[in-house]
Amino acid sequence: MIDSYKFCIIYMYISKLKLGKMNKYRLNLHFPLIGSVLAMFIITIFSFMYFQETAIHGNKKNIVDKFFNNLELESEYDTKVFSNFIDMVGSDSSIIKSFESKNKKELFDLTKPLFDKLNKDIDLTHFYFILNDGTVFLRVHNFNKDGDTIKRATFLDAQKTNSLSSGLEFGLMKSYTLRAVKPWIVDGKKIGYIEFGKDIGKTIESLSKLLDTQIFIAVKKEIFTDAPKEVKNRLSDKISTKNDYIKYNTTIIPKEINDIVNGKLNNTDINLGDGTYFVSLAPMKDISKKKLGSFIFLSNVSSEHSLMYSSIKILTLFLTALTLILLTIGFGLIKRREDTISTLTEQLDKKNRKLQKLFDIQKNIIIISDGKKTLLVNEATLNFFAVESIEEFRKISEDISGRFIASNGYFSLEKVPNNKNWITTIEPLSGDARIITMKDADGASHTFNISISQFEEEQYLISFTDISATMVEKINLSKKIEKDELTDAFNRKFFNKNIASIIKSLDSHTYLGVAMIDIDFFKKVNDTHGHNAGDIVLQQFSQYIKSSIRLDDFLIRWGGEEFIILIKTKSKEALLRAAEHIRQKIEKSKFDIVGNITCSIGITIYIPGEDIIRTIERADIAMYKSKESGRNMVSQLENSDTNELEVPTNEECLRAVLDENAIIVNFESNLLDNHRYLPEEVIGKNWFDIFIDTSDTKETMNYFKEILSAKDGKIDKHTNDIILKDKTHMLLDFENTVFTKEAKRFVLFVAKEHSETYL
Ligand code: GH3
Ligand code: MG
Ligand code: MG
Repeated sequence: MIDSYKFCIIYMYISKLKLGKMNKYRLNLHFPLIGSVLAMFIITIFSFMYFQETAIHGNKKNIVDKFFNNLELESEYDTKVFSNFIDMVGSDSSIIKSFESKNKKELFDLTKPLFDKLNKDIDLTHFYFILNDGTVFLRVHNFNKDGDTIKRATFLDAQKTNSLSSGLEFGLMKSYTLRAVKPWIVDGKKIGYIEFGKDIGKTIESLSKLLDTQIFIAVKKEIFTDAPKEVKNRLSDKISTKNDYIKYNTTIIPKEINDIVNGKLNNTDINLGDGTYFVSLAPMKDISKKKLGSFIFLSNVSSEHSLMYSSIKILTLFLTALTLILLTIGFGLIKRREDTISTLTEQLDKKNRKLQKLFDIQKNIIIISDGKKTLLVNEATLNFFAVESIEEFRKISEDISGRFIASNGYFSLEKVPNNKNWITTIEPLSGDARIITMKDADGASHTFNISISQFEEEQYLISFTDISATMVEKINLSKKIEKDELTDAFNRKFFNKNIASIIKSLDSHTYLGVAMIDIDFFKKVNDTHGHNAGDIVLQQFSQYIKSSIRLDDFLIRWGGEEFIILIKTKSKEALLRAAEHIRQKIEKSKFDIVGNITCSIGITIYIPGEDIIRTIERADIAMYKSKESGRNMVSQLENSDTNELEVPTNEECLRAVLDENAIIVNFESNLLDNHRYLPEEVIGKNWFDIFIDTSDTKETMNYFKEILSAKDGKIDKHTNDIILKDKTHMLLDFENTVFTKEAKRFVLFVAKEHSETYL
C-alpha cells in the first residue's frame, strides 16, 4: 500500500507551484524600466528648462524696478542741475533787465546760446520765462509760441509754495517732460518764473541703453484731444493702437503691439525677427499720479535662451549616455534574474514532473477533499470513474463521498452525524468501520480501505486502496463454512479453494510470505490443565495472532495446534520482522489458566510458479529448525530454494532510494487497530513505506539508525537531521511526532539536502 503522506508533498508542489510548459521565465520589467528611465529623462529636461526660464524671466522682471529707480534718480539729479541753471539765469542782471522791460527779442538773444549749449550738454529741451500770472512770456525753445497760460501742476505748485517744483508732466505740445519751475525773486520781489524741461525721450534713450532693453511709452489717445494741430499732425508718425499712441522709441514695434499694450502678453516671451523678447508692462503716471499710459519693456532674451538651449543639448547628451548605461545595467540585471528564475523553475519543474509522474502511476485512487468538495484527483481516480477531468467527476457528485455505497455495514454518508464532516468522522474509526465501497464506471462494486492525512487546514489527502480482491472475498468467505469453529481461523478447505486467487492477486512488487506456527509443548498444556484448557489456549492464540496481522493477511488452522499465516510482503526482512513480531506478541501475551506460552515459527517466500505445497514444506522445515534450535524463535532455511527468488532487501531498497535522490521515507504505524505488528515494507524504487510499532520511541530511532547505517548515516540528536558520511545532510522531520501509544501515524520526510521545497 502506498501511503498518502507522500502525495501530500506532491500535491503541495503541484498546487502551489503550478506545473506547466516550461518556457523561459520572463520578468515583464523591460517596458516599465524603459518608461521610468525615459520619464526621468523628460522630467529632468523639462525641470531644467522650467527653472532656467524662471531665472531668465525673474531677471528680466527686475528691469522694470531698475528702470523706475534710475528714472527717479535721474529726475532728481536733473532737477538739481536745472535748479542751479535757473538760479544762474535768474541772477543775470541783463536777463532780469530785458524780462522786466518786457523785451522778448533781447531776452531770447541773451538766453538762446545758453539753451543751445544746455540742449547739447544736458539734453535740455524746454526753457520758459513765465509771468507771475502764469502767462508764458518767452519759450526760448520755441520763440514764436507765447502768450498762453500755464496750468500745469508743477507750475501751480511752484506758485503756491513759492519754491522749486518738479516732476514729469505733459506740456502744451504733449511731450512727456521732466519739468523744474522756480519762482524768480529779484530784490525780494517775485518778478515771474523760470522753467526748465527735459523731454523724457532723452532719458528713456539713455536708460534703454543702460538696461539693454527696448522701452516704449504708450500714451493714451485722450491726452492728445486738445493738442495743437501741428502736434496732431506729428502723431501720424507714431504707432497708433486702439487707445494709445506709441511714442519715443520706435525702432522695433512688434505686430502684437495691441496685445502688448492691453497687457495680454505681459511677462511672456515673443519672437521678433531678430530674436526672442521678454515683454513687461508698467503704468506711466504724471506728477498728479494720474495714469497716462504704459511703459513697455522688450528685453532681448535670445542670448539667455541660446545659452539655455546649448546647456540643454549638453544635458541631453549626458542624460542619453546615462539612460543607455541605466538601461544596459537594468536589462542585464533583469536578464540575470530571469535566467536564475528560469533555472530554478526548470529544476523545480523537473522534480515536479518526477513527482507528478509518480503520483499518476499510483494504482490507488488518491484525492484531496475538504469533506464537501473534492479538490484534486489522480489519474487512477479518473480511470476508475471513466471521466476525463475533475470537473466531469464533480458533475455526478461534488465530493467523492457521494459515491460511497451504503451496504454490508460499511462506512457511508448515512453514518455521518448531521453537520459533521465525513472525513473527521471516519478518521478515528478502525478495522471494518473504515472500509467503503464504490461502483466503478462499469457498475462493479469495489471495496476500499482508506487512509487519511491532513495537509492543510480543512483539507485532507485520502488514499483509497482497493481491497475487493482480498478483503471482500475474505469477509464473504468467512461467512461460510470455511472457518475453523474452535479458533475462528480459516480452515484448510478455505486454503485449498482460495490459494490460487490469493497468489493471482499479488502485484509485481508483492511476495507471498508463508509462516508455519506451532505452539511449544502444547501436549503439556493438555496434560496439565486438561483438553478444555488447551482449547481455550488455542482460541486465544488465534485471537492474538489475528489482532497482529493485517486485514488482507490470512490465518489458517493447518491442523491441531499448527497454524499457517499467508503474509503479503515486500522484502525478506519485512517478512522476518512480521514473524518476529507475532512470536513476541505470543510470548508477551497472557493466556487464561496457563499464563504464558511460546511458539516456534518457520518462514519462507512463495516462488512464483511452484506448487504451494512445496512452499509449505519449506516453512514446515524452517519451523522444525526453530524447534530444534530451542523453540520460541523464527527460522528460515539458509540454503533454501528462496535464493532463486530475488526478493530485495531493505538495504537494497534504501540504497536505491538514496542513490536516486529519493526524498521521502515515509512510515506509518498502527494504521488499523488490529495491526499489532507491522512488518517493514518497501514499495517501488523511490518510495519507502515503513510500518513500525511506534509505541516505543527508542525502538523507532534505533530502527532508523539501523536502516541508515546502509549509508553510514547518523541522526543528529538536536536537529533530527541525518548526517551522512559524505557530509550530506538529510532532513529528518516528523509530522505528528507524538510517540505515544495513541499515536496513530506519523511521517518521516527525508530530503537529501535541507530544502524548503520538500516540506
Ligand atoms: P512441540 O513443542 O514439539 O510442538 O511439543 P508439543 O507438545 O506441542 O508436540 P506436538 O506439536 O506434537 O503436540 C500436538 C498436540 O496438540 C497433540 C494434541 O494432543 C494436541 N491437540 C491437537 N489438536 C487439539 C485440539 O483441538 N484441542 C486440544 N486441546 N489439543 C489438541
Ligand atoms: Mg506443538
Ligand atoms: Mg504440533
